[in-house]
Amino acid sequence: MEPSYSNKLDERKRVFVFDTTLRDGEQAAGVSLNPKQKLKIALQLERLGVDVIEGGFPASNEEDFRALEMISKNLTGPAICAFGRATKGDIEECAKALENAKKKRIHLFLATSKLHLDAKLKKTEEQALEMIYNGVSYARTFVDEIEFTPEDGSRTDLDYLFKVVRTAYDAGARIINIADTVGYCQPSEMYERVKKVRKKFSEEINSGKMSLSVHCHNDMGQAVSNSLQGILAGATQFEGTILGMGERTGNASLEEVIAALETRGDFYQTYTNIQTEEIYRTAKLVSKLTGIEIPINKPLLGKNASRHESGIHQHGVLANPKTYEVVDPKSVGWEGERFCIGKHSGKHIKEYLRAQRRGVFGQLKNYFFGKAIVTEGL
Ligand SMILES: [Zn+2]
Repeated sequence: MEPSYSNKLDERKRVFVFDTTLRDGEQAAGVSLNPKQKLKIALQLERLGVDVIEGGFPASNEEDFRALEMISKNLTGPAICAFGRATKGDIEECAKALENAKKKRIHLFLATSKLHLDAKLKKTEEQALEMIYNGVSYARTFVDEIEFTPEDGSRTDLDYLFKVVRTAYDAGARIINIADTVGYCQPSEMYERVKKVRKKFSEEINSGKMSLSVHCHNDMGQAVSNSLQGILAGATQFEGTILGMGERTGNASLEEVIAALETRGDFYQTYTNIQTEEIYRTAKLVSKLTGIEIPINKPLLGKNASRHESGIHQHGVLANPKTYEVVDPKSVGWEGERFCIGKHSGKHIKEYLRAQRRGVFGQLKNYFFGKAIVTEGL
């Protein structure tokens, strides 16, 4: 069976999309999804074309376990991933929950920064390496595809991070996920860090035995940039969530990273398996089931993402939408009002509407001051 990861450095690099809306996304304070809701989202993520769906943390609660079981039974496209600590009990729960999955992956993590080791785990670096080795080796007895994450990897001493990666790899992990768990890294630092890991393990990576992933948080608003920098530096997988949901200020917004990769494929030289026109529908579903509203100015999805009020912009968009829109709203399935008539609007939109709506213009007059106008197709 074809693995759901790769590190092939083709001319145009395939980027694998790992969705963690149902695990890290659900860890957002105040968000809770039941198994049926998770299955509904997972089915839509399958239509969206993500490569991996992380359905939950089965050892942490019974509902996550059941959700993963349901997702495993009902999905056939993406790999289904269960998340757990590098402990025997967690690994067994992951393996059990994934029993019926067609493609499966276990994702283990252990904090590796000095701060987390001392303050949280009370472990030495050596003890942590042993836990990683034992955990990954044990997980490998159940599932072929193992991903390992050094939690707080961006604040982990680089030489120690190399040892961690070596240990996880030797124990059988094939996807190494560099995590910027607290959104600490600046984009150029993320690039450098991934590049250094890539260089250190170039033999394993070039021979197809190891691939790199990035997992970025948004505490300083740089999760998307950091993910893209990781990809530029050699990561062939990124992890994100729909609407950027997640712990604190969230994870990298999956749809924004995809939009950058797809829209600027010329720059990144990458492609994904994503059906971009499903993005809006997916986001609406996640928003409805989690209660998280889509901000008006959210890239791609917000009400204002492809709506224009100022006269100069309206004129430009009427002449050619590319003048002020880099992402074609139809390409992400965006729905909304294209123009808003307000004090900044000019004569072109009014002329356009008169021409288009002659005969019904009177009925539209209420919309002319400040309210939005729905227009179908330009
Ligand atoms: Zn995270």
